[in-house]
Amino acid sequence: MNFHLSEEELELKQMARDFAEKRLYPNAEKFDEQEKLPADLIKEAAGVGYFGLSIAEKHNGLGASCSACMGAIEELSGGSAAFAIMLSAHLSLCCEAIAKFGSDSVKEKYLPQLAAGEKIGACSVTEANAGTDISAIETTAVLNDNNYILNGTKAYVTNGSIADIIVVLAKTGEQLSCFVIDKTVAGITAGKSEIKCGVKAADVCSLTFNDVKVPKENLLGQENEGAKIAAALLDSGRIAVAFQAIGIAQAAFVEATKYSKVRVQFNQPIANFQAIQFKLSEMATRIDAGRLLAYRAALMIDENKSCASEISMAKLFCSETANYVCDQAVQIHGGYGYIKDYAVERYFRDARATEINSGTPEAQRIQIASDILKDKTSA
Ligand SMILES: Cc1cc2nc3c(=O)[nH]c(=O)nc-3n(C[C@H](O)[C@H](O)[C@H](O)COP(=O)(O)OP(=O)(O)OC[C@H]3O[C@@H](n4cnc5c(N)ncnc54)[C@H](O)[C@@H]3O)c2cc1C
Repeated sequence: MNFHLSEEELELKQMARDFAEKRLYPNAEKFDEQEKLPADLIKEAAGVGYFGLSIAEKHNGLGASCSACMGAIEELSGGSAAFAIMLSAHLSLCCEAIAKFGSDSVKEKYLPQLAAGEKIGACSVTEANAGTDISAIETTAVLNDNNYILNGTKAYVTNGSIADIIVVLAKTGEQLSCFVIDKTVAGITAGKSEIKCGVKAADVCSLTFNDVKVPKENLLGQENEGAKIAAALLDSGRIAVAFQAIGIAQAAFVEATKYSKVRVQFNQPIANFQAIQFKLSEMATRIDAGRLLAYRAALMIDENKSCASEISMAKLFCSETANYVCDQAVQIHGGYGYIKDYAVERYFRDARATEINSGTPEAQRIQIASDILKDKTSA
């Protein structure tokens, strides 16, 4: 089932698969050990157009549909989940916010540079005391003549150190507002890169804003519209994480299948044992179900249909599937799955992030339930 991906879109997915197989998969372990994505890799990806995948052609992007863009994220995530999370934060959070809520002049100023990969994007919502509950955000933005003055500290910013352009959510009085900020302005300090359990090569850090001057025209949407913008960004972040999760799960499944055919115990490949076959069947079924949920949500986004629940279902199921599949892949590898010589050890760690980033499973269940309960037709 291709969910109506056109020839061109399938080509894009294939191109991402080739890039993942040649440039990411063989080096992912090294990136993980070095806890860094090499600058030349980022440059190369920019040259192929990945940083402008979803950006409109008029702003020098490739103008790919959500389905096509997510198909590419799925493939790239199979090669390196850290690379995929870096690109997703740039595209699905930063660029998406500017494209959807920026004025024409803001779009013209930032999107072409972001599309070319000359500038890297990040999006900063979470704070030490405001995770699932974004109404607890403490960073403030106060209008002073033609500038907002921002003060506060953000946490867990993917691309925080390497980004040039940051989308930031801050309190304007009692409400939230959203801003795009050039990181070169005075007063922004990046904290040290967090040492994480998985997606180690992705840069995640805190950002402190100390009397940062943001021109009034860098407000995204209207003042006090931040909660609405955050909801839109959560949706685009969640669909990207769903596809990252499927990419990791698929890669772990492939490794586990291969291993089960070559590992001999009791004078036969372990794939001969029904206990192993049933694990592979369950893994394949859940991956397929997750992929269908994820493509359905992406298609609904492309068709401009309201689909917050469908996105949450995809994010919830795919992230739990990735963790289930990677756990089973380690089990099929036995002791070898628990040491660094085999890729499943990394997939197992990388998958964990998909259940936290862009909202936890609990947050997805809250979203789904709230839609069920407000839908009078489903009673
Ligand atoms: C690798 C990684 C990258 C990230 N990148 C970014 C980024 O680029 N930008 C950004 O802004 N943030 C980013 N985050 C932060 C991420 O979005 C938050 O960690 C996430 O939203 C959860 O917030 P929290 O960690 O504060 O957990 P909390 O909100 O404190 O939740 C702790 C636990 O309580 C549960 N919980 C909370 N509220 C409820 C409730 N009402 N009902 C039931 N259970 C509840 C949660 O599900 C969770 O299990 C990233 C996180 C990670 C791990």
